[in-house]
Amino acid sequence: MSTPKPGLSTRSVHSGNEVDRRMVTRPKTLPIYESSVFVYDSLEQVDDFLAGNPDNYMYTRIANPNQAALEELLCALEGGEAALFSASGMASVSAALLGRLNAGDHLIASRELYGTTQSLIQKELARFGITATLVEINDLAAVEAAITPATKLIYTETASNPLVRVSDVPALAKLARARGLKLLVDNTFLSPALYIPLAEGADLVLHSTTKYLNGHSDATGGILVGDAEWIAQARRFQINAGGSASPFEAWLTFRGAKTLALRMKAHSANAQALAEALEAHPKVARVFYPGLPSHPDYALAQRLFPKGASGMLSFTLHGGLAEVDALIRALNNTAFAPSLAGVASSITHPGKTSHRALSPEALAELDIHDGTIRVSVGIEDAADIVQDFVQALDSL
Ligand code: PLP
Repeated sequence: MSTPKPGLSTRSVHSGNEVDRRMVTRPKTLPIYESSVFVYDSLEQVDDFLAGNPDNYMYTRIANPNQAALEELLCALEGGEAALFSASGMASVSAALLGRLNAGDHLIASRELYGTTQSLIQKELARFGITATLVEINDLAAVEAAITPATKLIYTETASNPLVRVSDVPALAKLARARGLKLLVDNTFLSPALYIPLAEGADLVLHSTTKYLNGHSDATGGILVGDAEWIAQARRFQINAGGSASPFEAWLTFRGAKTLALRMKAHSANAQALAEALEAHPKVARVFYPGLPSHPDYALAQRLFPKGASGMLSFTLHGGLAEVDALIRALNNTAFAPSLAGVASSITHPGKTSHRALSPEALAELDIHDGTIRVSVGIEDAADIVQDFVQALDSL
């Protein structure tokens, strides 16, 4: 008896699904594995997955080929043993800290950490009995003094937001090692094209891949790279807490990262040109760019970032909010958009956005004023970027 023809609904669900299994050639670039679950041919394959075969996938919250490809790429770029991709930079921060620390533990962090990272530490971790001391991170005596028997790790950013203060990662790594602590470095502002914290003794590196690693302002994500034991703890947390990223975001980021070195070269050269032009303009009181001899961390940046100081800079106008507003309106090719590291130049106002929660006194202490503007310098032609700022400043 011949098998009856399946009904329309059955054909809709099951037909056409095997095209990729019959392919003679293979795709030159990695396809998007936009599948929430993977098919097993046998119970043996389940055992193989549970035994930890990294090429065996089960469920995209746990792992997916697009996430794995990006993780492998970042291990190659940062020189790490293992990596974990997450749905955002903050999901990576959460996995790194909550996967590793226990109630009663203490960490030491830079007082200039990204605002939401500080908020996570102070508002969320504190509720679970994990405490923190925020310090001036290059004051090694202050870091030493903050160490308690409960201290487990030191957390800093390669360069801070918005004044691009540079952390002395090699000195912090030495101190951490001597005191039996781990060092976590957020390398978002530099990227592995310009600086490799693991090579200088850091244990774990973090990126908001939303920024330079993707580079095109069209995907949100975060990644941890480094110590395999710490990554395993972060992965366990992420599987349980559910912070994994979509395959499409992983694919976009993988694609963006292919041009990282080229983009970082252009971002750095353009930022240097703009920083010098801003410093020469009479409307500008001060410029913060680590590639300028006037920056407080110039010497450190020359030592740590010989290939370029990246595309982030800040400057303070002599005027206040009214002049900032006028500048925003006068810029033709530079959007006011509170993120960073895309191919297109953009500006933001830390006092009104990222640092809004801080008191006027706290802002003044950080050297952030009403007239302070942060620039994410893009990869347009340097002369055009400079010209846009100069014409806008001239119009004030
Ligand atoms: N780390 C740094 C240095 C950042 O600038 C940001 C975001 O701006 C984050 C982490 C958080 O990343 P995300 O916004 O992708 O969650």
